[in-house]
Amino acid sequence: MIVLIDNGHGSDTPGKCSPDQKLKEYLKSREIARRLETLLNLRMVDARLLVEEDKDISLPERCRRANAYCDKYGKENVLLVSIHCNAAGADGQWKSAGGWCVYTSPGKTKADDLATEIWNAADERLKNYKERFTILQAQGAYDSKQKPMRADWSDGDPDYEARFYILVHTKCPAVLTESLFQDNKADCDFLLSEEGTKAIVELHANGIINYIKKVKNT
Ligand SMILES: [Zn+2]
Repeated sequence: MIVLIDNGHGSDTPGKCSPDQKLKEYLKSREIARRLETLLNLRMVDARLLVEEDKDISLPERCRRANAYCDKYGKENVLLVSIHCNAAGADGQWKSAGGWCVYTSPGKTKADDLATEIWNAADERLKNYKERFTILQAQGAYDSKQKPMRADWSDGDPDYEARFYILVHTKCPAVLTESLFQDNKADCDFLLSEEGTKAIVELHANGIINYIKKVKNT
């Protein structure tokens, strides 16, 4: 199995940062992607970065690169994970939404199984984050409707579904993770910490490896 790791946006994408500019999504997603590639390689998984460049690469070009792997190795032997950080607005203000979530394309595909494995791994690996979330929520860091593990259970699994370009136009199972909100101060502090970055890298690795094990056994 070849694991393609996509990282959101680029140095030339406007917006896409925390209100205080300390966290830039293109940099954080690249840091997570590079560390995830290294960790997966250490765990004997063939992981590769889809976007080595710092500048933004268009979505059609990202999909062309992914589909070239699918055509060469077989789409059942490739999977793609696109790494992002979420945002509740684009007005440069801190917001009260927070939490972790994963997206797939609409309908039931292998991507749903991959998303569920990563969601379950996140639910486990983000234990400290979840405990802190509850405390900080009581102090007003998150509004009362927010949950640390965001999910849409309406179709029986925890992923959200959306027609994101990278999910719809790739031939292999593809998921997109939104690891916390860059425009929430508490989430942003966690994302900027080594503890937070490590947890996010590891939850992706754990979920991907659990998915690959399941695919091998069927
Ligand atoms: Zn993004």
